[in-house]
Amino acid sequence: MNKPPTTHTPGPWRISGVRADTDHLLIEHGRSNTKSPLICMLYHDQHRLPMESNARLIASAPTLLVCLTALLSTSDTNADETCRWCGRSMFYEDGSRRTFTYCPSDDCPGFLARKAVTDAEGRP
Ligand SMILES: [Zn+2]
Repeated sequence: MNKPPTTHTPGPWRISGVRADTDHLLIEHGRSNTKSPLICMLYHDQHRLPMESNARLIASAPTLLVCLTALLSTSDTNADETCRWCGRSMFYEDGSRRTFTYCPSDDCPGFLARKAVTDAEGRP
């Protein structure tokens, strides 16, 4: 399996605490409780945003990226030539009996996951 180019700080990322003077959540790199490189600081925007849920999502991003990349490393086509993610036919509609390698339906979970990975990696 090919590893994607790393263009971000690799995981793990963790919610490391609350900045005392602001009550903003801190996300840092690494597993230890010692001072680690700061990834980001989250604002609650006057408590209108679910800051802790947003922090958990951001902190899990490196793991999600690794998992999605692994899940998407093979063709989307099942043995019966349907998409393994959305179940649609993977045949081209030109009668050629060729199949897509990756599902082209833009509402397919596989398509959306692949888009999320390319967005995260900064690829077009
Ligand atoms: Zn699909």
